[in-house]
This record gives sequence, C-alpha cells and structure tokens, in this order.
Amino acid sequence: MQDQLNLLKELQEIDQEIGTIEATRKGYRDELAGFEAEAARVQEMLDQLNEEIGTLQQEQAQLGQELLKERDRVAKVEARMPEIQTQKEYVAVLKEIDAAKKANRDLEEQVKAKQQEIAALEEDRLEKDGELSRIQENSEARGAELNELLGESEGQLQQRSKTRDSVAADLPVALLRKYQTLFKRRGGLALAEARNGACLGCNMQLPPQQFNKLLRVDELETCPHCNRILFVEQDA
Ligand SMILES: [Zn+2]
Repeated sequence: MQDQLNLLKELQEIDQEIGTIEATRKGYRDELAGFEAEAARVQEMLDQLNEEIGTLQQEQAQLGQELLKERDRVAKVEARMPEIQTQKEYVAVLKEIDAAKKANRDLEEQVKAKQQEIAALEEDRLEKDGELSRIQENSEARGAELNELLGESEGQLQQRSKTRDSVAADLPVALLRKYQTLFKRRGGLALAEARNGACLGCNMQLPPQQFNKLLRVDELETCPHCNRILFVEQDA
C-alpha cells in the first residue's frame, strides 16, 4: 500500500508540474494572441481612416470641379461686358458676376474646410501607422522569444508526460481512475497529507480511529469530508 501511495504522490507531483507548464504555455499563447488582437485593432482604425480620407478627397475633388465651373461662368459673363448696351443690362450682369463670385468664395471655403479635415485625418493616420509599426516590431521581437519558449516548454511537457505515463502504468487501473477524477474535481490535489489528526486538503478533523489506521497504512484511506486520498508523512 505504501508503494502505491508513493507512486500516487509522484504522479500528483508530475501532474502538478504539467499543469504549471500548461498554464505557462497558455500565458505565452495569450501574449502572442494579444499582439495580434492589438495589431488588428489599430489596423481596423487605419482602414476606417483610409476610407474616411478617401471619401473626403472625393468630396474635395467634386467641390474643385464645381469651383472651376463657377470661375468659368464668371469669365464668360465678364466677357460679355463689352457688348452691353443698356444700363439695365449692365446692372443685371454686375449682379450676376457678384452672385457667381460669392458662390466661388463659398466653394473655396468649403474646399479649404475639406483640406483641413483631410489634413487632420492624415495626421491621425500617421500616428496610427507609427503605432502599428511599434506593435509589429514588439510582436516580432517578443514573438520570436515566445515561440522559442513555447518550443522549449513543449519539450518539457513531452518529457513529463512520458514520466507520467510510466508512473501511471505501475498503478492499478481503478486506483488511477479514482486519482484522476479527484485530481480534476479537487483542483489538482487528489492526495492530501493528514497531519495532527486533520486532512490538510480541506483542513477538517479526521475521526481518531481513521488517523490510527492511516499510520498503519494497511489500506487506502480517503478523507470523509473532501474525499481526497490521505497519506501520512512517515518521518514527520
Ligand atoms: Zn479532506
């Protein structure tokens, strides 16, 4: 019985190590995923900025064309001036030129406003471009490190798993199954030490006669409170 207990203790130790390695690996993978998510987030903002800038540039081009047309109209009306014969006609033409010039000024202001809007967005874009480059640089440097760490820990994991399998092979199947179920349900602690009459897995007192049986190690004892397999440190 003591042999089986020793094997179980060894198995639990290896399983806990495996759990730690897997948690560390998850951390590495999460960090890698974090870089990707961060880059995707900035890229999305960049895409949106590009789209907005594109739309504004189109609007600006359209305004520019309208402006050319209006300038053309002013030029045409002004060209008619020498042919004017009546005062009334002259006043009408001047009015028309005035109106066209005012429309030009409005358009010019609109073009300027668009240019300013575009410039502001382009500045944003430059900033986001820089941010994306920084993320990519970090991701490349740290990513290489993380991939190396993942590779190393993969090796450790394989080695531990091999040891684990060979220890597990020496245990009776039913006991192994009981241990595995407990390990999962009891947060990675299937075996608990019994000390000073208490189970250290759940810190509850054990019946005194059970503690005496534990010391004899005749059969496997489990805690009546948390169901963990109990052991006593012999030299303690
Ligand atoms: Zn217990």
